[in-house]
Order: sequence, then structure tokens, then C-alpha cells
Amino acid sequence: SDHFLTYPKSPSDMDWATHYPAFAVVNRGLENADYESHDLGNTSSTTTITQPVEIADIGCGFGGLLFALAPKFPNTLLIGMEIRTSVTEYVIEKIRALRTQHLSSPLTTPHNYQNIACIRANTMKFLPNFFTKHQLSKIFLCFPDPHFKQRKHKARIVSYTLNSEYAYVLRPGGIVYTITDVEDLRGWMVEHFEKHPSFRQVGEEEVEEDECVKVMRTETEEGKKVERNGGKKFVACFRRVEDPPWP
Ligand code: SAM
Repeated sequence: SDHFLTYPKSPSDMDWATHYPAFAVVNRGLENADYESHDLGNTSSTTTITQPVEIADIGCGFGGLLFALAPKFPNTLLIGMEIRTSVTEYVIEKIRALRTQHLSSPLTTPHNYQNIACIRANTMKFLPNFFTKHQLSKIFLCFPDPHFKQRKHKARIVSYTLNSEYAYVLRPGGIVYTITDVEDLRGWMVEHFEKHPSFRQVGEEEVEEDECVKVMRTETEEGKKVERNGGKKFVACFRRVEDPPWP
């Protein structure tokens, strides 16, 4: 249940620095300082990060995609969002372990997983409280829960309303990546993104050449499970188009 989840009031209330300590910067507010006496005792300081988070893995599960993408985008901040407490804790612990492990051998493994983090959240609620308009360049929806029964369809993480939230946080040119082993859900996702004015489906050739698609197929825990069971994986990607000019 998500009853005890707390959300930032706005993206500026989000304490990203604790999640990406290597990217933290302390801003010393000098507005209260007494320059005459050089008394800087009253300065207030805030901690922010050097750059905004750009890639979100929604319903990240055990984090396979994050761990695989981290070294491929060493200068980009990635966030996994997961509703289950124990699963989120597992991912956070694994990130901590990888950071420590790779800190001790920076020469052999120059990448140290400082650019990934995981938070517990119900992404169906308040996504724009975490990210500013057009902040993200990529959103991943990997093997979302299918919610087969008709009356459960409203629990699907793709809907016209949620797609408007994805369109808000995603920059024009940005991409929503989806993968599922449920053909009916693929149809549902294509239908809902296609009828949304902010998205166009990405062509097959471009999809096949995208490095992230390869990672999504092979590195997610669900992707591996489907592979073991000899199942099919359906990929569909959608580009966030420019907003039309106001009439
Ligand atoms: N993406 C992972 C993968 O491909 O291996 C996990 C897929 S798993 C089938 C779906 C995940 O989405 C679960 O870990 C579930 O807890 C999470 N989830 C479902 N609804 C969610 C929500 N509203 N907000 C955040 N995570 C959610």
C-alpha cells in the first residue's frame, strides 16, 4: 500500500543531493552575511546537485536496467522509481555496495555508479512533483504489471491521463521506451500513446538501432525471465513531439 508514501511539494523540495552525493554542491547563501565585519556566521547554505536527473525507470523492480544503463550514460543522472518497499531497499543497498566496491578500484573500473539512485514512489501519483516540465530525456516502462482484468485496466501505468504527465516531464524529442511480454498490453500502450497529441511512435529501424532497447530486452529481471521461459518481448517507443503553437 502507498498510504505512507510522502511526496515533495514541488521538484525544488526534492533532496536529490542525498541520492547523488558525488554530484552534490553546497551553495553558500551570502545574503545574510555581514561583509563589514567579515562575519560569515549567519550564512545559510543549501545543497543541490550539479545537474538535474534526466532518465527515469518507472516501476524499476530490482534495478537491472539501471545497473546496465549506468556505465553507458556516465555523465547523466538516472533514477529508478518503485512502489514496493523491500524492492526499493534492495536496489538502494545494491547501489551503495557497487559504489563502495568500485571506489576501491577506480583504475580497473572507472565507473562507480554514482549516477544512479532509487526512490520509493507510486508513479501514478504526483509525478510532476518530482520533475519539472521537460526535465527528462528518457522514460522507461519495462514490463509494467499487465492488470489483465478489464475492471483493473485503470491500474495500468499507461493511460491518456498518465501519458499527459509523461508528456509534461519529458522534453520534446525525448522518448518513452516500453517493453512487455503481453501482446494485449502492447496494443493498449500503442493505442493510448498514439491517440495522445504529444507522442508519435518511433519507427522500427530506429528502435532496433537504439542501444537502450537492447539493454531493455536483455538486462531487466523480467526480460531475463521471459527469455528463460521462451516468451516473446514486444517493444514500442514513443517520441515526445513539440507542442503545437497556441492558435
Ligand atoms: N521493470 C522491472 C523489470 O522489467 O524487471 C520490473 C517489472 S515488474 C513486472 C513491475 C514493477 O512495477 C514491480 O516491481 C512493481 O512493484 C512496480 N510498480 C507497479 N505499480 C507501480 C507504481 N504505481 N509506481 C511504482 N512502481 C510500480
